[in-house]
Amino acid sequence: METRHNWTKQEILDIYNKPFMELLYEAATVHRQNHDPNTVQVSTLLSIKTGGCSEDCGYCPQAARYHTGVEGNDLMSVNQVKAEALRAKEAGSSRVCMGAAWRNVRDGEEFENVLEMVRTINRLDLEVCCTLGMITENQAKRLAEAGLYAYNHNLDSSEEYYKEVISTRGFEDRLKTIENVRKSNVTVCSGGIIGMGESEEDRAGMLVALSTLNPQPESVPINALVPVEGTPLADQEQVSIWDMVRMIATTRIVMPETQVRLSAGRTNMSREGQAMCFFAGANSIFAGDKLLTTPNPDVNEDMEMFKSLGLNPQKPFEKKPQRESVDATDSKYQNLGEKPKWSRPGHVIERNLTAQQKRKPQV
Ligand code: SF4
Repeated sequence: METRHNWTKQEILDIYNKPFMELLYEAATVHRQNHDPNTVQVSTLLSIKTGGCSEDCGYCPQAARYHTGVEGNDLMSVNQVKAEALRAKEAGSSRVCMGAAWRNVRDGEEFENVLEMVRTINRLDLEVCCTLGMITENQAKRLAEAGLYAYNHNLDSSEEYYKEVISTRGFEDRLKTIENVRKSNVTVCSGGIIGMGESEEDRAGMLVALSTLNPQPESVPINALVPVEGTPLADQEQVSIWDMVRMIATTRIVMPETQVRLSAGRTNMSREGQAMCFFAGANSIFAGDKLLTTPNPDVNEDMEMFKSLGLNPQKPFEKKPQRESVDATDSKYQNLGEKPKWSRPGHVIERNLTAQQKRKPQV
């Protein structure tokens, strides 16, 4: 089946709501036509700068304004990152994703350090991905030149529901960042979260926004919200495994060539539930006992699960070839010292304000 870029919300909703067995069968068929069904990529997510973020994302324990008890850390050193990447490689990961709790990337010393981290990880023959907030075209090109394989920037939800979760930046800035990444040769990783109180229409709306991008993102993480005490979404009900499988299957059908990532929320899923997600087309997981700040299954547990399901970890650079890293001294790009005006809609989201005004927990 050819990859389509003109999916409508109704078509996607019709797929999402198919009888379960039919949906699963169709997704598994599309999956087999485009991927090896017994191969799953193992990635490691490394928080290189934790907490203290200026944004108000309602799901995020790293937002400085909520009282979640997450301890903030300055940017890790290149050596620390190298040690963590080596550990991840030994444990079987083929991709390391570095996350920094920033609104956007700022030109300067910290960004130069991140570029060096990218070179270091790429030279360990691991796919290197970054999630650093909004970036400009020049910053994307500098990351590409350093050897970045993928840039993650999630749409989070539909454009309509995004406004119910975040007020400090607009949905169009997410799309602009993806556009900037596309101007470099870095692949795009962009997905979202279910279980934030959104409707099925919103889930379909997010998949419309992602699948109508041309080219479609090479990687789409589907997260189940992990409600964290102190965040505005702390009281959300756990998303059901059936919704998760439906979302993954639908993502697989509308984005056949994409790597679909079964991301946050796995600790609340049984092995049987995760197996259904793999059958429905998920072909990547994050390993390690933490996903940035939220819990995640232990690597050994995952390896046991792989063994019992007969799954093999994907080798690095199977989908796209590795790029060479150019040293800082040989770079053809400059630090432009840009100060882009990313939006700040500032509309009122009651539950975000309520969470912000709550007293800090007594220690
Ligand atoms: S999701 Fe990212 S941008 Fe939003 S508050 Fe958390 S760290 Fe900041």
